[in-house]
Parts: sequence; structure tokens; C-alpha cells
Amino acid sequence: MSDRAPQWVERRLPTEESSQLIALVRDIAQREITPRAAEEEEAGRFPREVFTLLSESGLLGLPYDSAHGGGDQPYEVYLQVLEELGAARLTVGLGVSVHSLACHALAGYGTKDQQTEHLPAMLSGGLLGAYCLSEPASGSDAASLRTKAVRDGDDWVITGTKAWITHGGIADFYTVLARTGVEGPRGITAFLVPGDAAGLSAAVPEKKMGMKGSPTAQLHFDGVRVPDARRIGEEGQGFAIALSALDSGRLGIAACAIGVAQAALNEALGYATGRKQFGRPIADFQGLRFMLADMATRIEAGRALYLEAARLRDAGRPFSRQAAMAKLFCTDAAMQVTVDAVQVLGGYGYTQDFPAERLMREAKVLQIVEGTNQIQRMVIARHLAGPESR
Ligand SMILES: Cc1cc2nc3c(=O)[nH]c(=O)nc-3n(C[C@H](O)[C@H](O)[C@H](O)COP(=O)(O)OP(=O)(O)OC[C@H]3O[C@@H](n4cnc5c(N)ncnc54)[C@H](O)[C@@H]3O)c2cc1C
Repeated sequence: MSDRAPQWVERRLPTEESSQLIALVRDIAQREITPRAAEEEEAGRFPREVFTLLSESGLLGLPYDSAHGGGDQPYEVYLQVLEELGAARLTVGLGVSVHSLACHALAGYGTKDQQTEHLPAMLSGGLLGAYCLSEPASGSDAASLRTKAVRDGDDWVITGTKAWITHGGIADFYTVLARTGVEGPRGITAFLVPGDAAGLSAAVPEKKMGMKGSPTAQLHFDGVRVPDARRIGEEGQGFAIALSALDSGRLGIAACAIGVAQAALNEALGYATGRKQFGRPIADFQGLRFMLADMATRIEAGRALYLEAARLRDAGRPFSRQAAMAKLFCTDAAMQVTVDAVQVLGGYGYTQDFPAERLMREAKVLQIVEGTNQIQRMVIARHLAGPESR
């Protein structure tokens, strides 16, 4: 095994512009994100200034139309940017993914007027978004949500509690799914709620195992009034919008997971080539070489899977099944690879002196968010059973 661990992967990117984009992201990551990641995660500090910088650099609206301030990039490129950011610090990579998820409803289903009014600030004007689907009593069974929006003249009045909201309490806008009609998926409508709306408040953020710099909080809607002009899509179309957003969002989670796994492999390789036992680098021992080989193989398989799903999406073809597979495989891979990285580092892997333990704690959440991996298996199985069972 070489005594110099590879620092990063070679990417096959479709254009010169996308290669420059990745170079820009690596530069920002090296200068502004990675050096402070461990300390700020420990302190639970959200790096808002990094998101401002990403917005100024055109990196908060990459997969969206440039006519509205987006970057016009294919998903294939956007996801590789997310992978780089996820490797630098998951709070940032996942934060960008959640922000994109929050923009999806308006970009895909808003009227021209709504898009012209709101999208430029959302995609490149420094605003930060959040996506509000989950509630205390409805997680995997999201269609049973209870937050209500009741029509009152030209307004809607929203009442209820959303749970687990990434950027809850610090976001500038919230894409909110609320019940406007019958029980079940057909009675749900999407709204764009400003962060400073009267009656909107956030609870103290959850105390989490990892990703402590990313605030996750309950949001209380106490008669929050929004004009009908902030309803996105048709009444009753909200759940379909939410699912469409999640298909794309899951690919973001998959890409972040591969970033976390790659960071863990880099760490393990660097350590294994430097650490000596029995008079030799531990990387010379077959027991560890096989483990490192498995880690690298999982990462490359995961990357290929999310890129395949992204290319289907870019080609306008169905990609839900592949997105669910990518989310499932890449996040399970990240969990396994980060556990193995801790093992490669031995006792040091179990301390905060090295990033391996943080990466392991961060990987766990990726198996849970945007549909747990049990739910991904349900989605995949439904597709296998044929269109009539979906
Ligand atoms: C850090 C973090 C950030 C998050 N950010 C957001 C956000 O920004 N916006 C948002 O809306 N939500 C967010 N979530 C919520 C997340 O999407 C939910 O936690 C997730 O969907 C699971 O819901 P739940 O926690 O209520 O678990 P439950 O749905 O109660 O599930 C508990 C367990 O039961 C399993 N289970 C449930 N149903 C089935 C079934 N039919 N078959 C087999 N197993 C099943 C699940 O897989 C899980 O293991 C976030 C969560 C976390 C932890």
C-alpha cells in the first residue's frame, strides 16, 4: 500500500464549467469549512456565514433555472457538489440539500408570478430555507399529518406543530405541508411561510447524537396567517409535491452520505499508512487491507448508484426507484464505512482527537432522515411489484 493516502477522488464531470465548480467548492471547503468543522460541531454552532458565502458563490441554487437566480446545473453535477460539502462538514452539505428541498415546491409547482417574486432571493439572495413535513405524531406515515390550514377570506390560517425541522428557528422561509381538506394524502396543501410570520415560533433545538451544529427544532404555528398568494400548487396537491421533493432530496442525502464515507476512508487510509505495529505500517496487514478495500468498494458502488439516478433525472426519465435505492445503499454504506474507520484507528478512533468518531455519529442520521431506510425498502418493493401497487 502506498505511503501517501489519496486526498480526494477523481471526478468525471460533463463540462469544463462543472470541473471549475468542483474546484471552487473544494477551495471553499478547505479554507472556510473543514478547518472549523470539529470545533463548531462540538460547540453546536451553525455556520450561517458559510451559507451566505455559498449563496454569493452561486452554490445555493445550483439545480434550478438561471432565469430565477439558479445555476442551471444538472443533478449529476449538483450532487457531486453536495458530496464535497458533505465530506467537508455534514451540517453544511445536508443544509444545502434541505435548502434545495425547500425550494423544490415553488420552483416546480409555483405560478410564474410566485416564482418571479420569491425565487431569486431563495436561490441566490442569501436566504436560507427549511422543509416542514414531519410532525410529532406523523413521521414515516407523513400523510397522516395534522397541522391545519383554514381558509379565511384571501388568507389561510395555519395551526399545528411541525417536528424535526432542519434550520427550524433560523430559516428565512419554510415550505410547509398542512391539511386543508380530507384525511389522508389528498387533503394536504403546500404553503410558503416567511420565517418572521406572526404566530410562528421554534422550540429549543433537539440535543442530537451528531450534526450538532445543524439546528433541528419543533416549529409551532399558532394561527399563522399567510395570503392565498403563498399557496403553492393546487389545494390537495401538497402531498404529491412533498413526495416529488423527497425523490430529489433523497439523492442529496445519498450524495452527502458518500461524502461522509469518503472523508472517513481518507482518514483511515492516512492513519493506517502512518501507524506502525509489529514494526510495520498497520496498512500492510491483510486484515486491514481487506477492510479498506471493502470501504472503498462500498463508496464507489454508492457513488455510481446515485449518479445513475441523477442521470435518469437529468434525462427526464423516472428515477424514484433508483433514488430510493441510492438513499438506502449510500447511507448504509456510510454507516458501515465510518464504523470501520473507527476500527482502523483503534483506540484513537474512539476519541475526539480524530474525526472518525464524529463521522460515525453523523452517518447514523442519514439512515433516518427523508424516509428511513425501512421506508426506502417499501418504496423499492412497491416499484418491483408494478405500477398498480404504487
Ligand atoms: C436530524 C434530523 C433532521 C430532520 N429534518 C427534517 C426536516 O427538515 N423536515 C422534516 O419534515 N422532517 C425532518 N426530519 C424527520 C425525519 O424525516 C423523520 O425522523 C423520519 O421520517 C422518521 O420519522 P419518525 O422519526 O417519526 O419515526 P417513525 O415513523 O415513528 O419510525 C420509527 C421506526 O419505525 C420504522 N417504521 C415506521 N413505519 C414502518 C413500516 N411501515 N415498515 C417498517 N418500519 C417502519 C421506521 O423505519 C423507524 O425505524 C428530521 C429528522 C432528524 C433526526
